[in-house]
Amino acid sequence: MRPFAYQAAPMRVVFGAGRRSNAAAELERLGARRALLLSTPEQEGDVRALAETLGPRAAGLFAGAAMHTPTDVTERAMTMLGEVRADAVLAMGGGSTIGLAKAIALRTDLAQLAIPTTFAGSEMTPIIGQTEAGRKTTQTTRKVLPETVIYDADLVRTLPAAVAGPSAMNAIAHAVEALYAEDGSPVISLMAEEAIRAIGGALPAIMERQDPAALEQALYGAWLAGACLGSVGMAIHHKICHVLGGSFGLPHAPIHCLMIPYSAHYNAEAAPRAMDRVARALGADDAPAALHDLMRLANAQTRLSDFGLTEGDLDEAAAIAVEQPYWNPRPVTRGGVREMLHAAWEGRAP
Ligand code: NAD
Repeated sequence: MRPFAYQAAPMRVVFGAGRRSNAAAELERLGARRALLLSTPEQEGDVRALAETLGPRAAGLFAGAAMHTPTDVTERAMTMLGEVRADAVLAMGGGSTIGLAKAIALRTDLAQLAIPTTFAGSEMTPIIGQTEAGRKTTQTTRKVLPETVIYDADLVRTLPAAVAGPSAMNAIAHAVEALYAEDGSPVISLMAEEAIRAIGGALPAIMERQDPAALEQALYGAWLAGACLGSVGMAIHHKICHVLGGSFGLPHAPIHCLMIPYSAHYNAEAAPRAMDRVARALGADDAPAALHDLMRLANAQTRLSDFGLTEGDLDEAAAIAVEQPYWNPRPVTRGGVREMLHAAWEGRAP
């Protein structure tokens, strides 16, 4: 066995359909009397309904959360926070809304109650990305880790399958990379394999009929995958997705979904034990092939060329990816990354 270090994140997790009804009790547990509620404009109605169950603990609602945590949005939320004299934040939504809660916690150290409604997993991580003047920067600090998370499977039922599928594959990607992380551990690997098993098993039923039991399984897997993302370093897959998202404006979850079979293939020979565990979790012989099957089930766009990328863009993306590579089990070379991108661009089986 390899030597390892493992540190558990200091947070409380409450899981189960309908458990958002515990929000008032969870705020009380945090010592919060007046929480500022956060949402995107699209989810304002759902958060208003939650506010009605909180009585005076709901001090106000800021419904302006946006993708990539723009700092001007955070400043507007901070103004409202002061006006309503809030002593905590409650974020109900996907990674964008949870990102706003983290940005407020970074500036104030206020307690956060997160109620995720996608599978992105941000609620489990001490990572915050913020965008100022079009530039996104990321930092890692325990200050932004939510104190309490409520996973309520009722809330993911409203996710359209076209959003749920890629979001679930985004979570699988965290777990795959955790299995070969430089700072991995047996505990994280257990969580990662279980996450892949839960989400991979649920995905067909989610895509076919948005089955509630399958959505709950996927949410359970997303929790575990998010915990992996929050605990260990990510590798080539997350690097290339950050390049494709940051420099080419491609959408977060669909790009994770599209690229994970190709990233797994890139690392297959260098990380055979990780691949065995991915394959075992998916009940398959070959991990990249099984991930490719899931990707085609989940994503409407199954080739990088479907996103409008040109062959010239592939050269540029490969060059950016090797500038400051993340640690990876196989050396990250420009030629190797270009080849991986080209296979994904053509939609070839990995
Ligand atoms: P999102 O939060 O941007 O949500 C996408 C859209 O779906 C929004 O309009 C939202 O209101 C809507 N939506 C969310 N849940 C819904 C539901 N249950 N029903 C109907 N509509 C719903 O998307 P996301 O993929 O969850 O988050 C992406 C963002 O999170 C990116 O900015 C990404 O960088 C960030 N992220 C950060 C971390 C981290 O650790 N810091 C981890 C993962 C993702």
